[in-house]
Amino acid sequence: MKRFLWLLLACSTPLLAQRPEHTPDVPVEKWTGKTILLIGAHADDDALSHGTLALLEAHGNQVFVVTLTTGNVGTQDPNLSRTQLAGIRRAEELAALAELGIPGDHYINLGYDDGLLEFEDRKAVVENLGRWIRKLRPNVLMAWDPGKNYQRWHKSDHRAAAYLAADAARAAMWRLLFEGQITQEGLKEYMVPEYLFYNDYDHDDENISVDISDFAEKKINAFSKYVSQYGPGWKNYKANLSDAEIQQQKDDARTRVRMKDGKAFEGFRYYKGLPDGLGK
Ligand SMILES: [Zn+2]
Repeated sequence: MKRFLWLLLACSTPLLAQRPEHTPDVPVEKWTGKTILLIGAHADDDALSHGTLALLEAHGNQVFVVTLTTGNVGTQDPNLSRTQLAGIRRAEELAALAELGIPGDHYINLGYDDGLLEFEDRKAVVENLGRWIRKLRPNVLMAWDPGKNYQRWHKSDHRAAAYLAADAARAAMWRLLFEGQITQEGLKEYMVPEYLFYNDYDHDDENISVDISDFAEKKINAFSKYVSQYGPGWKNYKANLSDAEIQQQKDDARTRVRMKDGKAFEGFRYYKGLPDGLGK
């Protein structure tokens, strides 16, 4: 029996040693001097993390947001064209990021069509995203969670964005993948060391929560900028809301802030290690 136990220990120890770490060495609330890159499918995907982004920006980190699509489809207003909607979504995103203290030139839109991300040329998208990862060399990549619960998500663009971000992180670390970026564009291969994955539907995979109490108001103000996506602008867009409508937008945004023990928080699945294991 004893021998069996030793055998069991000997077999399991290497496995335990290889388990990915689920807690950052330094709590997110104390991060400083890091470069953070958030990848999302649509303008407002980053809203799930706005409290954390505002906190990180205020604490001396550099925050960049890459949005894959222009958001040129999601409206119920019969009078908006795709071009108009894309322009509105860009302006709203810049206004939201400004509320968080994130400069406009830290917003990058890759221009893919809303609703069809998973039908794009995956190799081209991964190359495109990988280029930004190699350029910005983020200490932390934030993305839709490609983990085990992804299949229950409602939107195909979110599933696609989760995989594309993960695949781009993996591709960026190999010198011989998309090597023209290295031989022709002056970039270097890069391995993202840490990840924060967000999810709007199933929070079972979350392993850390970030206290955003001091930044909840910024999160609410930023969310109220998505006029074409929530409130009266969803069905009948107008650029300028009345004071009462703005207040209603903020009240709605407040109901979306997650609370625990009286404190506002955002939850994430934290991962550290090789990108190959980030979906496990
Ligand atoms: Zn979205």
